[in-house]
Amino acid sequence: MAKTPICPYCKELVNKDQTCKKYQNKTYHMTCYKKMIEEKYKENMGQEDYRKELYEYICDIFKIDEITPQIMSQIDKFYKDYNLTYTEMKDSLYYYTQIMGKTLDIKYGIAIIPHIINEVRQLYEDVKLATELNENVDITKAVKPVKVKIKQPNYSYRKNIDMEDL
Ligand SMILES: [Zn+2]
Repeated sequence: MAKTPICPYCKELVNKDQTCKKYQNKTYHMTCYKKMIEEKYKENMGQEDYRKELYEYICDIFKIDEITPQIMSQIDKFYKDYNLTYTEMKDSLYYYTQIMGKTLDIKYGIAIIPHIINEVRQLYEDVKLATELNENVDITKAVKPVKVKIKQPNYSYRKNIDMEDL
C-alpha cells in the first residue's frame, strides 16, 4: 500500500478522501496547491517590479530613454550567472554613483557591478546591523542619515548649558 503523502505546503498528511493535486512529483492538498501557485506568482511579479525599477534607475543614470541591448544582456547575465538580484544591482549603481561619487560610461554599461558587489553587500550588512532591521533595508534611505550625523559642534547649545549651570 502506498504511503500517505505529506503536503509540502502545510506539512500535513494528504488523506485519500481529500482533493489533491500532483505538482513536481509531490502531492498537495488542492487548497494548498492553489495558495502555493498564487504565492509563486506574486513572487515573480515582485521580481518584475524590481526589474522595472532597475531599468528606470539605469535610464536615469545614463540619461537615456530606453535600456540599451548591451545593458539588457549585462542585467540578464548578472541575474542568471552571478545570482545578483535586481535590487542588488540597483544598490550597486547607487553606491557607485551616489556614495562613491563616480560616473559611469555608457560604453561599458553596468560592467562595474560585479567588481563592487562585495563592497555593496558588506555595506548592506553594516546598514542592516546598524538599523537593527532584518529585512527589506532600503539602502538609498538607510545610507543618507549617516551623512547627517556629522554635525558641527553647536556652541550656542553649550553656552545655554553654561548659563543654566550658573
Ligand atoms: Zn496542505
